[in-house]
Amino acid sequence: MLKFSLKTTLFNMEKDERTEKLKGIRDELILFKESPLYEYRAANDYFPVVGQGSHYAPIMFIGEAPGRNEAETGKPFCGAAGRILDELLDSIEIKREDVYVTNILKDRPPENRDPLPEEIEIYAPFLDRQIDIIRPKIIATLGRFSMAHIMKRYGLEEKLEPISKIHGKIFEINSLFGEKLTIIPLYHPAVAIYNISTKDMLKEDFKILKKFLE
Ligand code: URA
Repeated sequence: MLKFSLKTTLFNMEKDERTEKLKGIRDELILFKESPLYEYRAANDYFPVVGQGSHYAPIMFIGEAPGRNEAETGKPFCGAAGRILDELLDSIEIKREDVYVTNILKDRPPENRDPLPEEIEIYAPFLDRQIDIIRPKIIATLGRFSMAHIMKRYGLEEKLEPISKIHGKIFEINSLFGEKLTIIPLYHPAVAIYNISTKDMLKEDFKILKKFLE
């Protein structure tokens, strides 16, 4: 006789629902011709970079925008900055597949220039939907662009400070989906490529993440 538990069935239903919703976002981004970055993507045969990792991740890392490696593969943080991110995750014994990694912009800006305000405005709703689907316990922003967007979204605009002052601080709020959410602004891993002292600071900040997950 077939035995199945209601709990497992409900879990699998929810699991499929999250995956389906995230796939929907991916499909919309593939066809996102309204984006000012779409032509550049098409001209270079790039991919949009949607995000990667567990759809049940307790922690979500949000970077700035895909670079060339990311746009060529469709995977976030797979170049030099990604290697630093991997090293930082290793330092707190967290596996990349257990977290979710994404960016505020889903397409590469030409020559890796900073995101423009109008680009952030047009891509942020995709990020916001990803957050609401995955419902992480912790959002770790990587760099000032995702930090500014996330802090504004969660009513922390007045607490915004330069990244040199605010990195590693903990902001605990009630999320828009009715659960506790911790926001931790971090330096972007790319700053550690040439500056070893920033890497030590990042390592210290990552220890805070570990503590929160325990
Ligand atoms: N820098 C980012 O902000 N995101 C990436 O995916 C890669 C580099």
